Amino acid sequence: MILVSLVLSVGCASAEPAPGPSGRSPSAGPPTTASPPAASPEPAPSPTEIAVDPPGALVAPGVLKIGPEGTLLAAAAGGSPTGRLREGVLVPFSAVQDGWAKITTPCELTRWMPVASGGRLGRPAVVLDPGHGGNEPGATGPTGLLEKDLNLNVAARAAGLLNARGVPTALTRTSDYRASLPFRVMLAGSSSAELMISIHHNADPDGPRPTPGTETFYQYRSPESKRLAGLIYEEVVPALAALDVPWVGDTDAGAKWRLGSSGADYYGILRRSAGNGLTAVLAELSFLSNPAEEQVLRRDDVVQLEAEAIVRAVERYLGTEDAGSGFTTPYPRTAPAGSGGGTRGCVDPA
Ligand SMILES: [Zn+2]
Repeated sequence: MILVSLVLSVGCASAEPAPGPSGRSPSAGPPTTASPPAASPEPAPSPTEIAVDPPGALVAPGVLKIGPEGTLLAAAAGGSPTGRLREGVLVPFSAVQDGWAKITTPCELTRWMPVASGGRLGRPAVVLDPGHGGNEPGATGPTGLLEKDLNLNVAARAAGLLNARGVPTALTRTSDYRASLPFRVMLAGSSSAELMISIHHNADPDGPRPTPGTETFYQYRSPESKRLAGLIYEEVVPALAALDVPWVGDTDAGAKWRLGSSGADYYGILRRSAGNGLTAVLAELSFLSNPAEEQVLRRDDVVQLEAEAIVRAVERYLGTEDAGSGFTTPYPRTAPAGSGGGTRGCVDPA
């Protein structure tokens, strides 16, 4: 479709923008100098996933993890089955009644499921959001590597590392399925997480660059989000730069913001999470559309390198007052950043 090919050619993040001209108005402070990474704590002998408690007496709101048998869904508590959700999917729940929980599915359907079909997820400190999924693949590399798969690979590795190091971390999407932007933010909000990082890989660079074209977008009005974006930038760029790759990027690569015409954050994941009081960053780690970058991104060690950079940034955010770096003033953008993120054509993971 023309629309899809157009939007895929200008970026990869699902924008879900408010209508109107693109953002301007600065106030991102001057660049700061990089500081060395803080010493990391010793890995703790913890599980690599957040604890999931037996149903027991659930108190809403919260997050349920669908158990190994999957779950049936019904339109009302105790009602006839109208659908299913697969094992491992995380869903927010808002009420509990007679052994049933009222949930929101990844496609934003309101349904009920037996509480016994899942377990309550412990409170995460961090939610990692692997961009795209299902029939929304995001960007595609020249030889077919899909952004949705790469994003999930990086996010799952980072979540496993953070959990093992004592920073409880959950994913908004646990396998290959669609999940709307409102669902992702609702899930993070229901989990009471402190931070949300949306993980993406980019397309359509301005041209060659001597260093990786990493971009981290922060919530314009949040100093915390700005700091997190600066720390992610500061960790990801040198980690990737160790690779011998002809990099590409935009001329304003860095830690930056983008506003929509209403003056709110352009990217739905940042705007909606800001509305929930959640500190969030959208990270475009590297350019999947660049043949040389796609080739290295097929390697496990490079995916691991990106994941470890995210982990170091989170640990420094939580454990230090480091300011981050790479702050830049973005040039005005009017082209849409990407389609999707809504529920049109959405199929829940049965
Ligand atoms: Zn993307």
